[in-house]
Amino acid sequence: MRQSKYFLKTSKTTPADDLSVNAKLLEQGGFVQKVLAGVYDFLPLGLRVLQKIENIVRLEMDKIGDEMFMPVLHPKENWEKTGRWAALDVLFKIKSQHGNEYALGPTHEEIVTPAAQSIISSYKDLPLAVYQIQTKFRDEPRAKSGLLRGREFRMKDLYSFHATAKDMEDYYNNKAMPAYEAVYKALGLDAILTEASGGTFSKYSHEYQVETENGEDTIYVCGKCGLAKNKEIFEEGAECTNCGKTTWRETKGAEVGNIFKLQDKYSKAFNLQYTAQDGSKKIVLMGCYGLGTTRAMGVIVEKFHDDKGIIWPESVAPFKVHLLALKGAEKKADEIYQTLLDTGVEVLYDDRDVSPGVKFADSDLIGIPYRIIVSEKTLAQESVEVKKRSEKEAKSVKISEIVSALK
Ligand code: ATP
Ligand code: MG
Repeated sequence: MRQSKYFLKTSKTTPADDLSVNAKLLEQGGFVQKVLAGVYDFLPLGLRVLQKIENIVRLEMDKIGDEMFMPVLHPKENWEKTGRWAALDVLFKIKSQHGNEYALGPTHEEIVTPAAQSIISSYKDLPLAVYQIQTKFRDEPRAKSGLLRGREFRMKDLYSFHATAKDMEDYYNNKAMPAYEAVYKALGLDAILTEASGGTFSKYSHEYQVETENGEDTIYVCGKCGLAKNKEIFEEGAECTNCGKTTWRETKGAEVGNIFKLQDKYSKAFNLQYTAQDGSKKIVLMGCYGLGTTRAMGVIVEKFHDDKGIIWPESVAPFKVHLLALKGAEKKADEIYQTLLDTGVEVLYDDRDVSPGVKFADSDLIGIPYRIIVSEKTLAQESVEVKKRSEKEAKSVKISEIVSALK
């Protein structure tokens, strides 16, 4: 991608109304643009990051469920059936010009449960799991901290359907949890498994919390085994559910995922039943598993940056290489750009007619993992300068060896 022709402009102005690191760096770096509180444009550079995150999520979820896509516009009746039309404070409600009322989907139990009715009839149909990656709407009272809390945001939500509690437990522990761990590992995030309130239907739900100053949650991490508890359920002197110890460390976390055993809460509301082996009708049991993809993007920035800008983990970086052409080296840089494209390397090429200082500063701000500088000075050695964004020292690499040096 030639930077001179890219829909991208970095900025020196910091957002006036948002002090969070991710809002500052993502807006200044030209990844996102604020439209209104909690609502952002994802510019081409930002969309590339989000798509990488969502593809990592998709890769792991495909191992444990089938992808589908549900609507954003929901019938009011479905939300009345579960009582959440009145009970869910963050539900966006829409009135059409024809007098009908709708909800904008904040989550999709009200849609996926009736959808499953036409698929599930016998115990032979179970278990099943479906997921989607989609835009959600929540009328959050305070939308702040950049991508950490949006009114319009992206989430992966997966729903599982089971004949027995044992099967639901098994899926939850042995399929969903390992898939979640694999996602966070691939994103470069150290996510702490955290017990949180599970509402009315089970003792705990599990959150995945990433330790970060701007996190809204207070969590207590067990000093022995690393399991955590969310403050809202934490009792002074409580024993760790996992190892029995009572030494806790208090810290701040951002919730990047939350998984629940729903049991029969939603299947009952929609009368989602199956015929058991003995011919009797039984209620289907469900689990639901959420993961905020835009919030994860914000959390990655909170974790990986320095005073100059973002330091993207390679797995989610918008490009692998930032190629900088300095004065007098444009022709050779064009050739190197073409070679990188031909060998399938994702490269942002700063071919703009601006000073080296501006190019360096923008490159640090944007945070692409490898920076390649082509200048008259490096060309005198038939080489370029390669520097990792995460390291201080640059090294000289022969032009003929650039591609292999990147491997
Ligand atoms: P929170 O406690 O942060 O309000 P929640 O518990 O209501 O979130 P869930 O319904 O569990 O959220 O949603 C699943 C995931 O979606 C969360 O773990 C989080 O990663 C993400 N998420 C929820 N609300 C938002 C939001 N307003 N903006 C961005 N991501 C969100
Ligand atoms: Mg939650």
